[in-house]
Amino acid sequence: MNVFKFGGASVKNAAGIINVSKIIQKFKSGPLVVVVSATGKTTNALEEVINEKFTDKKKSIQLLRVIQNKHIEIAKDLFDTIPEELLSQIQEHIVEGEWIIEEEREMQYDYVYDQIICIGELISSRILTHYLNSQNISTEFVDARSMIETDDTWREGRIQWSNTNEKINSHCNPILNAGKIVLTQGFIGSTSENNTVSLGREGSDYTAAIISAAMDAKSMIIWKDVPGVLTGDPKVFENVTKLDHLTFMEAIEMTYYGAKVIHPKTIQPLKNKNIPLHVRSFLDPESDGTLIFGEIEREYPPIVVLESNQALVHFSSKDLSFIAEDHLARLFDLFDKLRIKVNVMRNTAISFTVCIQNDKSKIHLLTETVHEQFAVIVEPNLDLYTIRHCNDSMLPKLLEEKIIIMEERIRKTVQVVVKSAPGIIHKRVEA
Ligand code: ASP
Ligand code: MG
Repeated sequence: MNVFKFGGASVKNAAGIINVSKIIQKFKSGPLVVVVSATGKTTNALEEVINEKFTDKKKSIQLLRVIQNKHIEIAKDLFDTIPEELLSQIQEHIVEGEWIIEEEREMQYDYVYDQIICIGELISSRILTHYLNSQNISTEFVDARSMIETDDTWREGRIQWSNTNEKINSHCNPILNAGKIVLTQGFIGSTSENNTVSLGREGSDYTAAIISAAMDAKSMIIWKDVPGVLTGDPKVFENVTKLDHLTFMEAIEMTYYGAKVIHPKTIQPLKNKNIPLHVRSFLDPESDGTLIFGEIEREYPPIVVLESNQALVHFSSKDLSFIAEDHLARLFDLFDKLRIKVNVMRNTAISFTVCIQNDKSKIHLLTETVHEQFAVIVEPNLDLYTIRHCNDSMLPKLLEEKIIIMEERIRKTVQVVVKSAPGIIHKRVEA
C-alpha cells in the first residue's frame, strides 16, 4: 500500500479538491491511504477562534461561523446540491466547537486549543471523502483520533506507538481489503481518554509517516505546491534549485534546522522502516519531485534554511561562579519543561547563550524561573541562517549588509545569527 499526504494549499478551494481527486485517480497504484490537512489557512483562522474564546465568546463563535460558511461555499462549488449528510457533518463539527467555546468551566488554553483546532482537518476530510465518492473513487472516512493515540501533551501529543500501530492496522486493513481508499486527517490524534490532541503545527506530514510506518507502506508521497525539496525557500531566496535526491539523514538535518518543506518528525518513522518518501508537486504532478531515501551520502549544493523571529538569551551566573554542568542541567531541564527548542548554543566560563524562537511568553516564564540564579539578557528580533554544505564563496554574499551577532561552524554546517531589522533595542529583562 501507499500513503498520499495532501496539505492545506492543495485543498484550499473547489478547484484544488478537484485537482486532488484527479491526482488520486491517476497516481493510485494499489491500496491507498490519503491523509489530508485543513483547507488553506483554516488552521490559522481556528487559532483566532481559540484566542477569542478567552476574551470575547461572541466574536469567537462569529469567527467559527465564517469558517463554516467558507467550507459550505467550497462544497457548493463541488456539488450540484450539497449532500445532506455532508451538510450535517460540517454542522456537527462546528457545533462541537461552539460547545467548547461556550463552556464556562475553566479550561487550560492548550487543552482548548486541541479540542477546537481539529475542526479544520475534520471538515476538509469530510468534504474530500464525499467528493471522491461522487467521482466513483470508493473512499471511506476514518477519524484519525481512533487510530493515532498520544499522551496528553496538548498541542504536541507524543505518540503511543504500540497502540497506534495496532489501531491503524485494525482500522485500515478491512477498508483496503474491500478495495476502498482510506481517507483520514493529518495533525490530530487522541488520548486514551478520548480527548483530542494535536501533533504540532504542520503535523500532517508526521501523521502520514506514522501510518506509512505502521502499515509498512511501499512509499509515501507528500504533494506540495513546490516542485520538490529545494536548496532554500523560494519565497525568501533567489536562484534555488530542486534536489532530486536526499538521504534520510540529510532530510532529518535540514528539517531539524527549520526547513519548512517537511515536518521535522516525519523522517524518522520512515527511515526506521526504510520507506521512500517522495515530495512532489500537485501543480505539476507528472514531474519527478524529490526522492528521500537511502544512506549513502553524496555531494550536495549549499542548502540554506532561514529561521526568522529568533532571540538570543544570555544567562550568566550572578555570583560569577562558572557555568558548570549542574547549571546547564537545570537550564536544559527547564527548556524541556517549557518545550523550548535550542537552535544554537554556546558557553563561556560564566555565561551561556542560546538561540531560540522568540516566543515572548515562554521567554518570560524562563527568565522568571531562573532570575535568582542567573542574570538574563534577551536579544529579540534576530534571524538564524543555517547553511548546510556551505562553501566559502557563498557566505559573504548571503550575509551582505547583515550584522552578525553569533556564528557557529561544524564541518560544512554554518549557523549565523544576524540582526533582522534596523534599530533593534537590546531589551534587558533581568540584570
Ligand atoms: N493544518 C495544520 C497546520 O496548518 C496541520 C498541517 O497542515 O500539517 O498546521
Ligand atoms: Mg498545512
